[in-house]
Amino acid sequence: MTEKPALKLKRLQDLTLRGKRVLVRVDYNVPIKGFRISDNARIRETLKTLEYLIEQDARIVLISHLGRPKGKPEPRYTLRSVADELERLLKAPVAFAPDCVGPEADKAVAALKPGGVLLLENLRFHAEEEANEPAFAKALAKHGEVFIQDAFGALHRAHASTSGVTKHLPGAIGLLVQRELEFLDRAMGNPARPFTAIIGGAKVSDKLAVLDKLLERVDVLLIGGGMAYTFLAAQGISVGKSLLEKDQIEAAKAIIEKGYNKKVEILLPADHLAVRVVAPDAAVTVTQAMSIPADLIGVDIGPHTVEFFVEHVSKSKTVFWNGPMGIFEMDAFARGSLAVAAAMAEATKTGAVTIVGGGDSLSVIAKAGLVGQMSHCSTGGGASLELLEGKVLPGLAALASC
Ligand code: AMP
Repeated sequence: MTEKPALKLKRLQDLTLRGKRVLVRVDYNVPIKGFRISDNARIRETLKTLEYLIEQDARIVLISHLGRPKGKPEPRYTLRSVADELERLLKAPVAFAPDCVGPEADKAVAALKPGGVLLLENLRFHAEEEANEPAFAKALAKHGEVFIQDAFGALHRAHASTSGVTKHLPGAIGLLVQRELEFLDRAMGNPARPFTAIIGGAKVSDKLAVLDKLLERVDVLLIGGGMAYTFLAAQGISVGKSLLEKDQIEAAKAIIEKGYNKKVEILLPADHLAVRVVAPDAAVTVTQAMSIPADLIGVDIGPHTVEFFVEHVSKSKTVFWNGPMGIFEMDAFARGSLAVAAAMAEATKTGAVTIVGGGDSLSVIAKAGLVGQMSHCSTGGGASLELLEGKVLPGLAALASC
């Protein structure tokens, strides 16, 4: 296997930042429900970097995207409420400017005092951000003397604020990105064993590359969620009306064969919760076998599967989890995912390194009330998977050459 070359990245601590204007790319793309922030984890995770910079008397200019506005201002995607939440968490004033470039932004940057914090409005209110337009990147870069990249969840995108800006400023990674890389690099480089990966979610096609890469590293691979049915079908097992990606059956067979050659134990669900129609109050059948009757839809892993998935987690020294075990959004089908979360929290207590990546798995952890009980919860699902796939993330590549 060819290894990607290690990127030479400067760390925040390697730069002289005292009193300087520091442009910090953060990922404040937080979930919003009806104008309210429903989970502030991504804001909380940046506090260490901000506290470090405040301590250095830096003048801190924060830039971020939120949601998917179409290159123009959309009130529901304003970062104004994020500035308020940050102020509350940081226990220090946070100024806000209603644009990320132009006279109002420039004025707000100029008004910053040593140790002051300013959040600029959503980068994606300008189409030039995602287009990585050079003049826009230059206008952003003008806000700082130094660039700190702390937006782990945006590293797999080459946008003006993650790539273009690095052409104009010396840069380094912030403390959040350092922590993310440390955990994911350790898991893929030198994991404590046994190393178990649990992969779920809806689609095999989205996770093929990471499954393939994980087989190079793990001892045990547990597959659950909607994608498990394609793997079962690849073994000739009937899956009723469950989610099935027929065009991925050959790919699933190749994964199983590679696992066999690499002596990785690949475990598929041995029983399921199944329903006639997917609805929160649907009558649930527990299948007693790997197969699912022709008229039923698999919606969660069954009790026997929960038992042996949990057993594997509790025996492991490193656990990586991405993707729910069932349609966890409905309480009746969340049991498998909640059990995995609880088993990981227990394993963490007894010294295992537990890493969770992906928005849905993090929602399960929140739903289970287990926030803070894993070794590491990645703030970037897409970025963490691409990193595990062995890809060089554009945001890091740009920083390495600046
Ligand atoms: P992903 O984005 O690929 O990680 O998929 C997450 C989605 O997979 C969640 O919205 C789950 O509801 C869905 N999912 C998990 N298990 C199943 C299943 N058995 N059938 C259909 N969808 C599922």
